Amino acid sequence: MIYLDYQATTPVAPEVEKAMAPWVAEKFANPHSPSKWGREAEAAIEVARKQVERAIGLNSGSVAFTGSATEALNWALKGTVERARGERPERNRIITLATEHAAVIDSCEWLAGQGADLTVLPVRPDGLLDLDLLERELDDRTLLVAVMLVNNEVGVLQPIAEIASMAHASGALMLCDAVQGLGRLTIPQGPDLVAVSAHKIHGPKGIGALWMRKGAEPAPFMHGGGQERGMRSGTLSPQLCVGFGAAAKLADERCDRDYDHVHRLWAAAAQALGPGWTINGSTAHRYHGNLNIRRDGIDAARLLADLREIAFSLGSACASGSGRPSHVLRALGLDYREARSSIRLGFGRYTTQKDLVDACEQIVAAARAQERLFA
Ligand code: PLP
Repeated sequence: MIYLDYQATTPVAPEVEKAMAPWVAEKFANPHSPSKWGREAEAAIEVARKQVERAIGLNSGSVAFTGSATEALNWALKGTVERARGERPERNRIITLATEHAAVIDSCEWLAGQGADLTVLPVRPDGLLDLDLLERELDDRTLLVAVMLVNNEVGVLQPIAEIASMAHASGALMLCDAVQGLGRLTIPQGPDLVAVSAHKIHGPKGIGALWMRKGAEPAPFMHGGGQERGMRSGTLSPQLCVGFGAAAKLADERCDRDYDHVHRLWAAAAQALGPGWTINGSTAHRYHGNLNIRRDGIDAARLLADLREIAFSLGSACASGSGRPSHVLRALGLDYREARSSIRLGFGRYTTQKDLVDACEQIVAAARAQERLFA
């Protein structure tokens, strides 16, 4: 099996597994209990919090752990609207992009159903936001601008620092979904809220975090025992927090090495694929561990079925299997046929050049076989 689906999830790092092990069974105390064992678990969680905050690298804020990035994004959006209802009722508008993850788009649509004023901006054919368009849209009713750093489907990088400063100039806040950027790139300064997820950085599934600039905290989302400074109730899992912390520390330490490795892999994949493929999205403003490509006339679903020993994706893992063409590829202007002939190869820290080249050669051979069949 060759694993090329790093945007869907990443293999757990051995260092993470080792760090989590004692907290799985042996150290089982509730981290919110005052016993010696409880305090030990709490201390381990606080170390992990600092490790995640360091990897995020933004000033003047802190992290609250959540069950996933999906939860962090729901909380950021719904809690910000909730808080503004009491404090700034004149601001009720959310601006986001057509290429955002479903956790953002669907939460925004839910909020629109509750009375929020929602604007979903289109992107250019290269996947980038037109900043002049944003400038025209921002007004004194805008509460929040939600834009992701690295797109999970096409790898395109949005200009987060510029977007944040434009949002601030109009008195709005900025939320950044940095799930695909954490540990891979430096997160630009500027956002007020940042959502991240452990399983995209070689950590465990079932834990994410919301980084909040001091003063920009959304209203509490989960009510109960008052954990996470009363903002997100629920007993924290020491094993998941410690795993997230270890993954964040490792990502921080290895960021440059991983980045160089990914660049070498990208070049090797491009060479092995050869001509006949078009890259979806900007080639200049992108994360190179995401190769979303199309080849005229091929049926990507059939390619996936023909190559069962290679794990790759049709589009986003969330949309795959739904039968619907990817909303991101459609937003880039691809027609139905082009979207259906697109595949996403995702690689990173543990991908070897040999495996990647081998997979690309198999993909090319299967695509050529299809072309002969349909000719
Ligand atoms: N945002 C982006 C860009 C993602 O790629 C994902 C996961 O696919 C999410 C949000 C949701 O993350 P989680 O799996 O932690 O809910």
